[in-house]
Amino acid sequence: MASAGFCRMLTIMAIILVAGRSASADPDMLQDICVADLASAVKVNGFVCKSNTSADDFFSALLANPGATNNTFGSLVTGANVQRIPGLNTLGVSLSRIDYAPGGLNPPHTHPRATEIVFVLYGELEVGFITTANVLYPKIIKKGEIFVFPRGLVHFQKNNGTVPAAVIAAFNSQLPGTQTISTTLFGASPPVPDNVLSKAFQISTFEVQKIKFRFAPK
Ligand code: MN
Repeated sequence: MASAGFCRMLTIMAIILVAGRSASADPDMLQDICVADLASAVKVNGFVCKSNTSADDFFSALLANPGATNNTFGSLVTGANVQRIPGLNTLGVSLSRIDYAPGGLNPPHTHPRATEIVFVLYGELEVGFITTANVLYPKIIKKGEIFVFPRGLVHFQKNNGTVPAAVIAAFNSQLPGTQTISTTLFGASPPVPDNVLSKAFQISTFEVQKIKFRFAPK
């Protein structure tokens, strides 16, 4: 029957559309606001909505001042996501501020749930992302300029200058998630077996242990 075939085709198209939507960003919201109840024990995809809300649930001064960059990498990411601004729950957006000391690096990492777009507040950065075909897209960006890191791709920013740098980063997720490659592999708990990392990186297990020591969970 032609109509049965047509129905089957429509069903397949609907499934593809639904699958495509859910794979593109955070799911659509079903009401005006759903301020996250971060203390709730109920687990859902996102956070359950709390009942008493105010303008403060949608406010933060978290990114107003530079973060402290006196750490190993010489950079600090301050996340203004749903965990800090509960009003962001179900809205599919968030911001971060990233500060870089001279020589500071935001090491190679990925965001599993979001594309990132950065705007340089001041300073100059060497940035880049790497495609799944292992092609690097490098760029030097300075004050007032923007750069995009496509969802899920490994990327980094480095301040090669002699003065501090800072960016505002926007994400199409209320909680983009971050996996820093070096920390993920060498600082996991329980640890990734030495022989896995030795084979993966083509180095000795002694060298693996040396790197692991530096990324040991504090
Ligand atoms: Mn990033």
